[in-house]
Amino acid sequence: MHVLPIKGCTFRELLVKMLLDKVLDPPSYGWADQRGALSKPTTKQILREFFKRLNIFRSRKNWLPLFSWLRVIVLIPLLFLFIFKFFSIGLLLIAFVYSMIIMGTHGTIWHHRYCTHKAYEFKNRFWRILTQNLTISMIPEEIYAISHHVHHAKSDQPGDPYNANGGFLYCFLADVNHQPISKDLTTDEYSRTIQLMSHTGVQPNSYNSYQKWGSIVHPGRALLECTLNWTIWYAIFYLIGGHGLACALFGAAAFWAVGVRTFNYEGHGKGEDKRRKGYDFNEKDMSINQLWPGIVAGEWHNNHHLYPRSARSGFLVHQIDLAWYYIKFLHFIGGVTSYHDSKASFLEKYANKAIAKEVVN
Ligand SMILES: [Zn+2]
Ligand SMILES: [Zn+2]
Repeated sequence: MHVLPIKGCTFRELLVKMLLDKVLDPPSYGWADQRGALSKPTTKQILREFFKRLNIFRSRKNWLPLFSWLRVIVLIPLLFLFIFKFFSIGLLLIAFVYSMIIMGTHGTIWHHRYCTHKAYEFKNRFWRILTQNLTISMIPEEIYAISHHVHHAKSDQPGDPYNANGGFLYCFLADVNHQPISKDLTTDEYSRTIQLMSHTGVQPNSYNSYQKWGSIVHPGRALLECTLNWTIWYAIFYLIGGHGLACALFGAAAFWAVGVRTFNYEGHGKGEDKRRKGYDFNEKDMSINQLWPGIVAGEWHNNHHLYPRSARSGFLVHQIDLAWYYIKFLHFIGGVTSYHDSKASFLEKYANKAIAKEVVN
């Protein structure tokens, strides 16, 4: 397709930019105030918005964020069963590794690097579905991927769905208050929105069905896929370690799904400038490289904002990147056919600027 350059960006990029301006359903307190600065809601406003937007009796179009939180709520009894009935130090360690490392890394591999950034390509549907279902399914792809494009386009600016300047709750409850797609997209806007996810295998609603449900994914299909995923994983865990292991890991998944909602606030410095010279090289936004999310999930977030389409974000020697190792392994065995890797470009531009040159490859 022939594209026209317009003020430094192509026509296609301009169309995407225009779409990202209105693809998310704005909260009642708006993205910006009259001066164009971030409209910062009070805690009360955030909570009121949260419960309003979970209320399916008010509008059935609220079903998707409710479904996302219900996945956590229905697993809480299993978490309690683990704590009060099956508890052992061994199971606790397994649950810790599962939630922190396996679920965390999977989020990076699937939702982040594939669904949003298309940083690599699968050979076929088998490898894609396998990767999608590598762990207990907790976060709907649509809630994460569409809003994450907006996060990159407007990082730390009004309109960023998890703008750290809005405070902890602004980010923590963002999947309900700021991340669902707009309910009044035109036919053309809706078809361009589903294009953003066309590679993920998420079967999109027709425009009529979108107008009914307010989402890309149909609730029946989402429920079926989640049920299948949970049933298979419960059966596998049960066969390996009985109800004790199954309760520990499903409880861990619920714990992770709540904990991961804190990442976006912390990954952008909690509303402060915490970037370190010679370590956080992307200066366009407040994202920072943090040791813990980097080590457990490959989320070297400042590096990632520097090279969003890279299938690898750990560039320095100590920046281990488990998500990248999985993608590279799949490439080695033929499940992934291609990937973007920006390590060489990073080293070329920044290696001699790094604080500790000896830690650079
Ligand atoms: Zn970010
Ligand atoms: Zn990203």
